[in-house]
Amino acid sequence: MNTRSTHTATAELTLNRHCPLVTCGQKIERGERIATASDPGMGDIHAPFPGSVEHVDPYRIRIAREGGETVDPAILHDLGGQELLARLRELGADLPAREQVDILILNGVDEEPGLLSRRTLLAEKLETLRTGASALVRGYKPAEVTLAVPGGVKESLPDIAVKVVSDQYPQGLDPLVAKAVTGQEAPDNTLVVGLETVFHAGMVMETGLPVMETMVTVDNSARLISLGSPVGEILTSDGLTIHDGDRIVLGGVLRGTAAASPSQGVDRATTAVSLIRNPTPVAMDAACVGCGECVRRCPARLDPAMITSYAEFGQYEKAEAEAVDVCFECGLCGFFCIARRPMLQYIRLAKHELAKAKAQSGEETQP
Ligand code: SF4
Ligand code: SF4
Repeated sequence: MNTRSTHTATAELTLNRHCPLVTCGQKIERGERIATASDPGMGDIHAPFPGSVEHVDPYRIRIAREGGETVDPAILHDLGGQELLARLRELGADLPAREQVDILILNGVDEEPGLLSRRTLLAEKLETLRTGASALVRGYKPAEVTLAVPGGVKESLPDIAVKVVSDQYPQGLDPLVAKAVTGQEAPDNTLVVGLETVFHAGMVMETGLPVMETMVTVDNSARLISLGSPVGEILTSDGLTIHDGDRIVLGGVLRGTAAASPSQGVDRATTAVSLIRNPTPVAMDAACVGCGECVRRCPARLDPAMITSYAEFGQYEKAEAEAVDVCFECGLCGFFCIARRPMLQYIRLAKHELAKAKAQSGEETQP
């Protein structure tokens, strides 16, 4: 495994419930905040290099690299508790908003087969992980902290218990790791944080600068990549040629999402960039044939057929009543659906629309 940075001439930062703070033509410094998060558990977005803003719309900000300055580092070492967590979010770390955390689990198991980011972080960025873990402990003040790792990993973090967890899919996903560590399903006051977020917090603590790069698996190895780097450029810089009909996927094959275009940039949640050659149609708007296979396969014991049928016809409240929020997006229902329905896409649509409706009703009830 190697760790080397990829630098590109442009960056396209995806806005996911973020409000842009810049306008076209504006000159910006490296590390300048360019969008604020509207979700209390999400970090803000910053420029990964100095440049000028080429394009802004509700979904993305594109920056062209030009010479320029870097913002002054923040001073964080005197902070603790919620104040530290809030500051880390302002600097780009996606730290869930929780008042009380009794058990904090740092998830070092890569979520899907083929992903190497967390293993690489453990092997090559242990010092930054130590710094990040210490910041999370200072922020959340948990009574217990556990690092969950797959078998064969020798690395550990000071004063943190280690629990070996199966990496057989989907056992590395957060709810199943929480169960493996605590012995309970959906344990109270337990927070699972992925190792890339620990790494982001560690980088911010070490440098005082915002999160500007992340560890991404590309073509069987993982490396640091600047946020916003166009996914097509990342693949071509690895010597790959993208043909008509190929699909670029952000994330793994089971849970990843197709890039809207080769210019779409990696974001903090991007664990991998993959190229799928001439994909066969993996999903279509076919009708459910009622085989029940998705229900048998769902590890969360949901009824994915019912949830996705509600989502398909815009009946999001009914999907909510079927506990769509409990779904941890493993993708197994779609993988096994014999009608090839886009199950995960419908589930994510329902969650997105429900979150949007909640945010709008919150805004309307504010004085
Ligand atoms: S993605 Fe499908 S199979 Fe996986 S937890 Fe959600 S509903 Fe169940
Ligand atoms: S697997 Fe597909 S076709 Fe079968 S019940 Fe589930 S949604 Fe319907």
